[in-house]
Amino acid sequence: MKYKLYNLLPSFGTNTYLLWDEESLEAMLIDAAAPCAELVGEIKTENLKLKYLVNTHGHGDHIGGNGFIKRNFEVPLCIHKEDAPMLKEPQLNLSEYFEINVMSPYADIEFKGEEILTLGNKKIKIIHTPGHTRGGISIIADNLLFCGDTLFAAGVGRTDLPGGDYNILMKSIHEILFILPDETIVLPGHGPSTTIGNEERNNPFVGLKAQY
Ligand SMILES: [Zn+2]
Ligand SMILES: [Zn+2]
Repeated sequence: MKYKLYNLLPSFGTNTYLLWDEESLEAMLIDAAAPCAELVGEIKTENLKLKYLVNTHGHGDHIGGNGFIKRNFEVPLCIHKEDAPMLKEPQLNLSEYFEINVMSPYADIEFKGEEILTLGNKKIKIIHTPGHTRGGISIIADNLLFCGDTLFAAGVGRTDLPGGDYNILMKSIHEILFILPDETIVLPGHGPSTTIGNEERNNPFVGLKAQY
């Protein structure tokens, strides 16, 4: 599996990831943060077949490009059912607070928790990792983990926003993410990549030395 990172919304530093299977060229776009003609052009010139548009959660800084992508490709928009209502509501996706009023099309597929998607012969696993929002998901593809705002390099997602819950976030990280192999590459919703092993040892909020 190959992936490419885009920074479409510099003011929020949101990571948008394009993930694809090199054999079939089937692709998934994760968190289209903002409209971007260059990204659409790249998908087309590389002959990638965009099969899924997935939001790790419903916050405004992760969904603002959904409409633009859907206008350019016939692709199903997927999000966990608990976060689906946030797509259309600037008040729920918190963009109202920043006076941007982000509105996305409705979801075509609402995840319930454990789904297996495919890109070519490759299996992509969707797992429910709530805590930052009720419907936060992570995506596992080979040794790659796209975890949205659940876990960051040396950080964890905020839990003080509506739908956030610190204890649930800790449970998601310890019981779901930290049981993945140490060498799993963590690709968060903001900031640099890391590995599960590195965060288990060194993360000041959830690592071995954390006080919680
Ligand atoms: Zn968020
Ligand atoms: Zn975010």
